[in-house]
Amino acid sequence: MVRGGALGLLGVGLLTVAGGVLGPLIGRTQPHQPMYPDNLLVTTPLKPVDPEVLKRADRLLLATHRARPGEDVWSIAKRYGTDGYSLLSTNGLEAYRPKAGQPVKVSNIPGFLYTVKQGETLRILLQRFQRGREHPELFLWEIIRLNDLPPFYAVAMAPPLPVGLPLFLPHVYPELDMFTFPNWRRTSGFGVRRHPLLRVRRFHEGWDLAKPYGTPVFPIRKGIVSYAGWKEGYGNLVTVRHSDGMESWYGHLSSVRTRVGRSVTRSTLIGRVGSTGLSTGPHLHLEVRNRQGNPINPSEGQNYILRYKRSSK
Ligand SMILES: [Zn+2]
Repeated sequence: MVRGGALGLLGVGLLTVAGGVLGPLIGRTQPHQPMYPDNLLVTTPLKPVDPEVLKRADRLLLATHRARPGEDVWSIAKRYGTDGYSLLSTNGLEAYRPKAGQPVKVSNIPGFLYTVKQGETLRILLQRFQRGREHPELFLWEIIRLNDLPPFYAVAMAPPLPVGLPLFLPHVYPELDMFTFPNWRRTSGFGVRRHPLLRVRRFHEGWDLAKPYGTPVFPIRKGIVSYAGWKEGYGNLVTVRHSDGMESWYGHLSSVRTRVGRSVTRSTLIGRVGSTGLSTGPHLHLEVRNRQGNPINPSEGQNYILRYKRSSK
């Protein structure tokens, strides 16, 4: 056990990993710490820790959480002071609703624990992950500071980072292959209802989300556009096919801004809110369909992804 207790040991969970790999390369010494505590190896699993320790710390800490029955990424993240997207980015979609006892890597800062690949430099990673940041240089120095990297990695001609190095990228969320819904007001849900125009009881195969005419519409999950045009009842419709064969449908659009075959992510504009087709006013009709082409309650989408993912193993 390293002196200084749990915090001392865990306080440098990731950081000592970085130091451990880089230490020998650059001959750095850390006077107040043993040079090679036994958790230095990149392959060493992170330890479990009291969530409050992570929550209160004023530096980056990483640990392992053992999932309890009924927990999901959001409830776990809340306990450690981070968010669900961070946990999903680091652990993959399997962590969405982990099985009891399943290990989940947690950090106390939102972001993504990345593993360095062959030939990657900080500059390469910066280009890939800085997307839309106003001050990329600040982002670069934040990575260096949090990961305790030697500053020379910041220079343009710096050598590649060690392969396999765990590198924490603050506030980075890679494009996750999952559904994320806009928090737009839902005026009609999934299920039987009295149709507002046809005045008959009819199954409503999706959600109606109210938004003003012209509001940009983005896909709720990445995929390939499988339909873009007019369809009876739906008006202007875009459908996106996802990696597991599920689809998301976007109806009543005032305009369509994509074409069949286009690859789209959650940040690709595909159309604008309208009131085309059988519609009483501007709103988005959002549908999620399973692999058999049947509409499902969009809120169930995530469970289907996991089911398909697990069954394909
Ligand atoms: Zn609808």
